[in-house]
Amino acid sequence: MTKYIFVTGGVTSSLGKGIIAASLAKLLQARGFTTTIQKFDPYINVDPGTLNPYEHGECYVTEDGAETDLDLGHYERYLNTYTSQANNVTTGRIYQHVINREREGAYLGKTVQVIPHITDEIKRRMLLLGEHNKYDIVITELGGTVGDIESLPYIEAVRQLKWEMGNENCLVVHLTLIPYLKAAKELKTKPTQHSVKMMSEHGLLPDVLVCRTEEPLYKDLKRKIALFCNVTQDAVIEALDADTIYSVPLEMMRERLDVICLEKLHMPLGNEPELTRWKEFLNKLRYPTSKVTIGLIGKYVELQDAYKSILEALIHAGAMNECKVEVRNIHSEYLTKDTVKEKLQNLDAILVAPGFGSRGIEGKVDAIKYAREQKIPFFGICLGMQMACVEFARNVLGMAKAHSTEMDPDTDQGVICMMEEQKAITQMGGTMRLGSYECELRPDSQVAAMYGSANITERHRHRYEFNNEYLNLYEEAGMIPVGKNLKTNLVEVVEIKDHPFFVGVQYHPEYKSTVENPHPLFVAFVKAAKAAQAERNLLAKRTSEKKTVA
Ligand code: GLN
Repeated sequence: MTKYIFVTGGVTSSLGKGIIAASLAKLLQARGFTTTIQKFDPYINVDPGTLNPYEHGECYVTEDGAETDLDLGHYERYLNTYTSQANNVTTGRIYQHVINREREGAYLGKTVQVIPHITDEIKRRMLLLGEHNKYDIVITELGGTVGDIESLPYIEAVRQLKWEMGNENCLVVHLTLIPYLKAAKELKTKPTQHSVKMMSEHGLLPDVLVCRTEEPLYKDLKRKIALFCNVTQDAVIEALDADTIYSVPLEMMRERLDVICLEKLHMPLGNEPELTRWKEFLNKLRYPTSKVTIGLIGKYVELQDAYKSILEALIHAGAMNECKVEVRNIHSEYLTKDTVKEKLQNLDAILVAPGFGSRGIEGKVDAIKYAREQKIPFFGICLGMQMACVEFARNVLGMAKAHSTEMDPDTDQGVICMMEEQKAITQMGGTMRLGSYECELRPDSQVAAMYGSANITERHRHRYEFNNEYLNLYEEAGMIPVGKNLKTNLVEVVEIKDHPFFVGVQYHPEYKSTVENPHPLFVAFVKAAKAAQAERNLLAKRTSEKKTVA
């Protein structure tokens, strides 16, 4: 029978519930259990697809085309397995379902209420992934913090499930903060006590407490927390600030989080966790032998979470290359023809990020021109690829007005334009080209060599496409459409041949990069950055030698 672990949060947001949930899942998986993670978000948007990155960070896209919370990205990166639409549920989706059923008359004249109708629907969804015993353990992360008004129906649903299934089948892991007061030189347990008290007011008690802390929790303090929060002493887990999110599974293993959960669920412990590849990765990450600086050009760069999957994919690829990747954030809005050289000249590579709308778009085009002409490795993702095509049209094909019709709907040189089937769509949510599509690469292309295969599938999230009317012009001038979707004839990948690395992809490779499977394009990109740096250093050395001789 499938067992359920719920991960709740208290005291403050941003404690890293997603990382703790993913780390626990990783340990259970490493012990040989089948496990998956789902996230329940208490906001009323049906999915985060319509949310601005300032509101919610990156929107993560699954194979089946769901626009989801970025924590699902962590789940996939840690577990190296796919998630799906079913792994992310929001209050909006719950209400939408209940209201639709009400309109269908499914409630037979009853008053439709939060309890039981909304909570029943929450419970149904919480158990969905565990149906047919597909998993030994399903971990559910509850978004938000205990005490938020909007979290209440979820807490109530978990309370009911615990009552129905029993403590040995349903466990609550509560993540909280033990702040360290510098002036008093003391760790404080009161906020944790309060957050557990608040939860208990709703009839729910945690079984395990994971305590985020800057300082180690000494034994007496753990005992105090256990006593006042009503958990067993071994169930107070220290989660010290970590140097990288990828060390958290090992930290949690040291604290026996997995063992304690399994014991409380009356489960066998399985094998000793098999984490060889994980540890190898961590070793490479911690002890790089070189360093590159990559410019990330986008309009949300000041926001850590906006390009989460790209940053993580660069970390994975860096480790593969035993190379530290320092990301320099460059705001496209502040890039102009006059500043582009000064801001980009010391970079080892340039990545132009995905995005929507016109803000900062010309800065992206200028950066791409610089990367193309100066032969700096360039990687353009989605909007980044589209702008690479725009730049090429303007500066190589002599089409001064070339643009994407997203930014300039009236241009008669729309080298990027909206797909026919998108034109009639008026609804915003969930209506882009979303999810996994096949792509056929030219076997002799650089990109096919990077993948080591000519048949790939990658995930999409966009409305606009390369305009095939201009295909031949591009190819003749040296920008080659090397990847195509054979069913729709849409261009998915472009590359420039006489350039060390100039790749534009219409899809989002970053979503599929995991610790155990770093994405081949990112790996090749970091490798190209290393090579570019070596070349630059050589050139500088020769120039200084020449000067000395003179
Ligand atoms: N705005 C572009 C489109 O919709 C690119 C989207 C993206 O970069 N994800 O086609």
